[in-house]
Amino acid sequence: MRHLCRLAAVACVIGAAGIGARVVEAQGQPPPDLPAVTVRGQTYTPRSILARNMGTEADQTTAFPPHRVIGNIYYVGTRTLSSFLITTPEGHILINSTYERNVPTIAKSVEQLGFRFSDVKILLGTHAHRDHQEGDALVKQMTGAQVLAMAEDVPALREMKTSGREHPIDRELRDGDAVRLGGTTLVARLTAGHTRGCTTWTTSVQEAGRTHNVVIHCSLRAPGTLTPGVVSEFERTFTLVRSLPCDVPLGDHPAQYNMHAKHATLQAGGPNPFVDAANCGLETDIQEAMFRAALEEQRGGRP
Ligand SMILES: [Zn+2]
Repeated sequence: MRHLCRLAAVACVIGAAGIGARVVEAQGQPPPDLPAVTVRGQTYTPRSILARNMGTEADQTTAFPPHRVIGNIYYVGTRTLSSFLITTPEGHILINSTYERNVPTIAKSVEQLGFRFSDVKILLGTHAHRDHQEGDALVKQMTGAQVLAMAEDVPALREMKTSGREHPIDRELRDGDAVRLGGTTLVARLTAGHTRGCTTWTTSVQEAGRTHNVVIHCSLRAPGTLTPGVVSEFERTFTLVRSLPCDVPLGDHPAQYNMHAKHATLQAGGPNPFVDAANCGLETDIQEAMFRAALEEQRGGRP
């Protein structure tokens, strides 16, 4: 199972290398690491994004120090797979269970922060890939939480059976639906492309007398083959994501928002480094550049 999970994760992250690359791969040679795009002075390729997002097996399964991000939002994930806890007086919301084998690690991080994992009332996710939502059934078993999922991702989630359990889904969401608990409201935005129901979560928090708009991004990385349907999904998604009010960009892989560096700055004190409006669009810029380059490659170099 672990081997299969790793394969799924690689499939999750390798993408823009394209059809030609897969032919070469089948012949036992490494695929060309293309396309390469440069955004704000840094060059990205499919393999560099894979390495950045997933790291090593140990990175995927080792707890990152749990910490408060801003307001009532806490990080409880691993070094490379995000899991966010949103606390309220009426129980908590968890976004992304990640791999099933990580659920005890996430539970421990929640407890280290002084909260009870059994108080998780609602489980949400960013998208129907195992590295983000494989553990949903175990979280539900441990907490009794309601599992809410974007309708367009439900078929893929139903396929995601783990340890013989059905994938739990208690309520299907539509674009713009609100999820409310204990005075906190999260809004689900359909940002399809990476999966059919890829979900970006927005909310606002109060800190130091100010209101901050928080955006928890879904992966925006394009799959290997860009069908007309996927292309139209991404065209809508890139526009939508850029329109969201944002002061605090977060993402389903920590590298999408430079968590490690920001966490180091957090330890030093001073202004909250997660308030970073200037970089709200950086990950979108990277992934849109990769998408357009891959689309051009797929069309045989014709723009
Ligand atoms: Zn994915």
